[in-house]
Amino acid sequence: MPGAAWPEGVIARYLTVGGATVDMTHQYNVLTPPEAYATLASCTGCPATSEHSHYRMVWGMTAQREEHHPGAADRDALVWAQAHAEKCRAMPRPTA
Ligand SMILES: [Zn+2]
Repeated sequence: MPGAAWPEGVIARYLTVGGATVDMTHQYNVLTPPEAYATLASCTGCPATSEHSHYRMVWGMTAQREEHHPGAADRDALVWAQAHAEKCRAMPRPTA
């Protein structure tokens, strides 16, 4: 809904051609304090979602290691959100 407040935790939002939105949120693990481990883009009009991990496996000289790239995950989620918003014609679900 245009003008409606964003749900808590939504870091970016795209309006789809169908009038729904694609919301980007960070997914948090259960550590204390919680740490974001992934960026999730999810459409409010259809079941499409896309989760982008903040951790990537990188091949080094001798072994594979995990690197923390939250910025890259955000960018990937954004690209997905933008692409989905341009083609999704599903109407937003009515809110109760
Ligand atoms: Zn959609």
